[in-house]
Amino acid sequence: MKKITIAIDGFSSTGKSTIAKQLAKELGYIYVDSGAMYRAVTYFAMQRGYIGAHGLDAASLIGALDQISLHFEFDPELRVAAMFLNGENVEVPIRTLGVSQQVSPVAALAEVREKLVAMQQQMGAQKGVVMDGRDIGTVVFPDAELKLYLTASADTRAHRRYKELIDKGEQVTYEEVLKNVQERDYIDSHRETSPLTKAAGAIEIDNSDMGLKEQLERILSHAKALIAS
Ligand code: C5P
Repeated sequence: MKKITIAIDGFSSTGKSTIAKQLAKELGYIYVDSGAMYRAVTYFAMQRGYIGAHGLDAASLIGALDQISLHFEFDPELRVAAMFLNGENVEVPIRTLGVSQQVSPVAALAEVREKLVAMQQQMGAQKGVVMDGRDIGTVVFPDAELKLYLTASADTRAHRRYKELIDKGEQVTYEEVLKNVQERDYIDSHRETSPLTKAAGAIEIDNSDMGLKEQLERILSHAKALIAS
């Protein structure tokens, strides 16, 4: 059967990864969480001391990019892929608010994007992939057959993220999480290299008041029509 590429973009906590994972499962496609890769590079920079009170030491990080090796490993028990940085499973640390607070300036670096975009394009070269991020439909796979652009109000998104972090046992306040969501929105959509923007031809879905089931049904019917065409 014909395989397609599905690109999902949008601000943080718009439910991109939940939708992408479900779609990949339904279609038997590979799911790639591109945000995990930017988070892993950020975690590397934090561990190396390239991010501190002084901010981000971009030159040092760029100089060390060739020492970063990333890969995903499928966990058959959890049925999801985990992010590995230089051989270490970093799924837990990359999801903390600490990493979320540092990731956008790292993701704004052209050299970082160049490295990660090349990897992402390679992962999707055979099609049959669902990838979510900020520049998937615009830069990584501009020819993707199905492009989605998810939105939701900042307040709705911050509540979702806050609940996720609290459920994981992180000590955070709603205000901190909202501030992080708003800061990332701003940096991700105003950076010079590949800012977040709705790709040409993308279907926009505002899911502030829409359930997962309804969104999935809508998107799956689009995907199936494209696969059959
Ligand atoms: O998707 P997630 O919220 O985990 O992404 C973390 C950060 O990584 C985003 O806020 C953004 O700065 C960056 N990112 C990006 N391009 C992508 C995916 C993520 O710049 N394709």
